[in-house]
Amino acid sequence: MYALIGTWQMCLDGARRGTSLLRAGACAGDAVEQAIIMVEDEPSYSSVGYGGLPDSTGHVYLDAAYMDGNTLRLGGVMSAENVRNPISLARKLCGRETNCLLAGRGAEQAAVSFGLQLRDMRTEASLEAWRAAVAKQQKKLSAYEEHDTVCILALDEKGGMAAGTSTSGLFMKDPGRVGDSPIVGSGFYCDARYGAAAATGLGEDIMRGCLSYEVVSLMRRGASPTDACREALTALTERKKSLGEDEGSMSLIALSPDGMFGAATTLPEFPFAAGRGEEAAVYTVKA
Ligand code: ASP
Repeated sequence: MYALIGTWQMCLDGARRGTSLLRAGACAGDAVEQAIIMVEDEPSYSSVGYGGLPDSTGHVYLDAAYMDGNTLRLGGVMSAENVRNPISLARKLCGRETNCLLAGRGAEQAAVSFGLQLRDMRTEASLEAWRAAVAKQQKKLSAYEEHDTVCILALDEKGGMAAGTSTSGLFMKDPGRVGDSPIVGSGFYCDARYGAAAATGLGEDIMRGCLSYEVVSLMRRGASPTDACREALTALTERKKSLGEDEGSMSLIALSPDGMFGAATTLPEFPFAAGRGEEAAVYTVKA
């Protein structure tokens, strides 16, 4: 049984590419990488890859990660500029025993050494959004409301599992700011024995609960993907509330080794794409 799940409506085309690859016998890693590349390459998806949301200085810095659930190896890229497909770099880095999480210029140099393409990731639209925010002296908090990460989890016919994430992070973020997306256990986790999970939303909150590891750990103890997502999210939102904070903006997806998928969110609606033994379709979960 193959299966795949991904965050937001924007991943639908990529998720469909992923499920058709899985149907043809591809491994989970290929499905994850190819699904995310489709989102990274599409400039109209303004929170991922080419045309991503700029930081406060007008530069597009990208975070991405890849985890192989069969080996527990992972690769990640933080604050990388000009790397056309950060997910491909993260996957290449996952093949290394050391130096598998690279930031900034080191990530860009690694991309060159792997023969991956560099490109200016700014588009006229992303620069225009930045200029408008600067002109309005947009308050950081409202600017920060613009973000979103593409996360893909896949299970292949042989029982292999993989997880990937890719994002430009928060709009108008401080230079060098890194969210949860390339941080193992927070933005993603994958262990083919128990399942995979990934997160999208405000990284500063998601990291406080190591939410993706928590979801996989709950699945290890027998929870279904949906129950694991709900329980991990509720534990953190309850804790935030006890500290006098609001619930925040966080969404989780999960996939089990038998191809069951689930999600949970604090948002009024959170769309995700998923397919189990068939082409991916869009589903919505509510808070
Ligand atoms: N989690 C991402 C970050 O904090 C943003 C998002 O998924 O909305 O960078």
